[in-house]
Amino acid sequence: MLSELGEQAKFLAGGQSLIPLMKLRFASPAHLVDLNFISGIAYIAEEYGTLRFGAMTRHAEIENSEIAAKVPMLRDCAAGIADVQVRNRGTIGGSLAEADPSGDWAVALLTLSAEVHCLGPAGERSLPLAQFVKDAYTTVLEPDELIKEVTVKFPPKGSGGAYLSCKRAAPVYPTATAAVELTVEGEVCQEISIALGCVGLTPIRAKEAEAVLRGQKISEKVLAAVGEAARAAADPQSDMRGSAEYKRTLAGALVKRAIQIAVRRARGEHIEVSPIYA
Ligand SMILES: Cc1cc2nc3c(=O)[nH]c(=O)nc-3n(C[C@H](O)[C@H](O)[C@H](O)COP(=O)(O)OP(=O)(O)OC[C@H]3O[C@@H](n4cnc5c(N)ncnc54)[C@H](O)[C@@H]3O)c2cc1C
Repeated sequence: MLSELGEQAKFLAGGQSLIPLMKLRFASPAHLVDLNFISGIAYIAEEYGTLRFGAMTRHAEIENSEIAAKVPMLRDCAAGIADVQVRNRGTIGGSLAEADPSGDWAVALLTLSAEVHCLGPAGERSLPLAQFVKDAYTTVLEPDELIKEVTVKFPPKGSGGAYLSCKRAAPVYPTATAAVELTVEGEVCQEISIALGCVGLTPIRAKEAEAVLRGQKISEKVLAAVGEAARAAADPQSDMRGSAEYKRTLAGALVKRAIQIAVRRARGEHIEVSPIYA
């Protein structure tokens, strides 16, 4: 239908980004193709060490899924999005397709081995998440191509992760977010990936901050250096959520805190996290 209707048509998923944009007249599609009528594209499954999410899976379904909870960061992310109304409608596929610089999913998924599986008239293709988001509100999707599924490989044994956000109130987008996934052996961090959200046009992989911790014993001193490197990787703009300087400081602090939670989870502790309101 999208191919027939042309570029004036848009998919409708949960409507939690598209409908507000239409209300503000920032988007005026001539046609909406409602994905809610397609059966079999909302599911959470576990297969051969991989988690599979149908594109129409709601944030709330992931928040409440025992399968998804096996990768705790996924639950942290889903449960922290907006409020229960938005989580009941909004979908993982819609969130990734929207590529909002303040969106949560792309940040969390960037630290995991995540792939986006797309379907269009030219067939199917799969891309690592890092290659999917091109710019603010821009992805590699062709106008008549849809996200069909998102997959996440289970992290190896000894891994832990955490996704933290800081926001002003429940139904608003965060001021800054940080995702950390790491593997520890004894006191030493063997592998780590760090991503920052809301502090750039796209999620930022803080590779220099990762390099500070990789192969090191986790200590207060090293954590301080990681936080500083994450702060330097942030590239925020001042807006009504806070000054650029404030957001940079938040990013560094969130990364340090996320590492501490990730380490405890890697050691088998069960820790609940929720957004920090400030
Ligand atoms: C008050 C409020 C607060 C919010 N706060 C947050 C927040 O804190 N964090 C956060 O991450 N999000 C937040 N959101 C956004 C929410 O997460 C949306 O659910 C999400 O961004 C879009 O998902 P959707 O399913 O609603 O997509 P829709 O709004 O239906 O669609 C969004 C865009 O993606 C396209 N699209 C949808 N599905 C597909 C698909 N499968 N393939 C290809 N294209 C597709 C549509 O054509 C459209 O262009 C908030 C929304 C509201 C209304």
